[in-house]
Amino acid sequence: MATTHKTRMLIIGSGPAGLSAAIYGARAGMEPIVVQGLQPGGQLTITTDVENYPGFREVIQGPWLMQEMEAQAVHVGTRMMYDIITSVDLTGPVFTATSDSGDIYEGDTLVIATGAQAQWLGVPGEQELSGKGVSACATCDGFFYRGKKVVVIGGGNTAVEEALYLTNHSDEVTLIHRRDSLRAEKILQDRLFANPKINVVWDKRVERFMEGEDGGLRALALIDTKTGEQSEILTDGAFVAIGHAPATELFKGKLAMDETGYLLVEPGTPKTAIPGVFACGDVMDHVYRQAITAAGTGCMAALDAERYLAHRDFAEAAKVEA
Ligand code: FAD
Ligand code: NAP
Repeated sequence: MATTHKTRMLIIGSGPAGLSAAIYGARAGMEPIVVQGLQPGGQLTITTDVENYPGFREVIQGPWLMQEMEAQAVHVGTRMMYDIITSVDLTGPVFTATSDSGDIYEGDTLVIATGAQAQWLGVPGEQELSGKGVSACATCDGFFYRGKKVVVIGGGNTAVEEALYLTNHSDEVTLIHRRDSLRAEKILQDRLFANPKINVVWDKRVERFMEGEDGGLRALALIDTKTGEQSEILTDGAFVAIGHAPATELFKGKLAMDETGYLLVEPGTPKTAIPGVFACGDVMDHVYRQAITAAGTGCMAALDAERYLAHRDFAEAAKVEA
């Protein structure tokens, strides 16, 4: 039978943003509920080595970090729900989320931490070699390719920025694009073309990622999009940079978004246009997209949710007294 769960802070999403909001919210006595979604622990559960999350001298594993974050959130009083939200009602003052299981979740505040997913090419070898040479995040994994050959696939701002970033670690960076011109901003293109460490390969699409004898990435099989000619490029690392899709379907028509679907918040805060509804992590950040920035904005969302409730409770008490 369907159950209604009530809380002072309802959190949708269990990546670093949602779990950080939960830790702060629980410690502030808001008894948060986290609805975990299809990917409990979020994007870091599909990677291996994480070397840039502060607090750990040695390389740690993404899934382990997320298990620890979840355990910490539960330890301080968060209720974890293995459920998926399918629709939301943001009219308030209580925010309601309906789930796949049929259960209803009601929050005096709502923290949206549904994240974003990297788009993949969907060609053979890509998922098999993910974490073994294939990545979607140069900031996360570029360091592992110091002094090695790398390629970046894509022609937008992200691809160009990733290629430029990778020149900090590698002297041989190749940008592979399916057309003969980039869609990246001119200023980024100028930097790219002026960088002697970067070579651009035009009009090529990746047909498959090829494994080496050591089980890691060895090469990419390419096809010329104009002539159909086949070729191969040897590489140690491949960064797929063809875009990200924020998980904001639930909020279409209810919350403001930019043209690519990221939630819009008041600059420098996690506040949406609806008082009591907050957005944190990758779902509102197409620029930084890191676990630590997601955790940081999750913390901000919980602190703002607490302040929102304190003001609301004070105003209600004053009304009763009057
Ligand atoms: P996510 O981690 O994307 O979590 C979103 C959560 O929302 C998930 O739990 C999902 O189940 C839930 N959700 C979505 N829709 C619903 C719904 N309808 N109902 C309920 N729940 C829902 N960053 C680093 O800092 N260092 C790294 O080394 C690093 N490596 C990475 C490697 C890979 C392969 C990838 C893909 C990313 C990597 N990142 C890294 C980026 C980092 O993982 C993200 O920036 C971070 O996870 C974003 O956190 P988030 O909480 O905003 O969202
Ligand atoms: P994007 O602008 O959508 O570009 C995606 C690129 O990947 C395009 O060049 C596209 O090729 C290519 N691509 C898409 N699908 C492909 C496929 N299946 N095979 C091969 N190539 C494929 O995505 P983005 O670069 O991630 O940027 C997303 C948004 O964030 C943009 O609005 C961007 O301006 C913004 N952004 C801004 C900054 C900044 O301001 N510094 C930095 C990063 C991102 P085609 O060109 O042929 O379509």
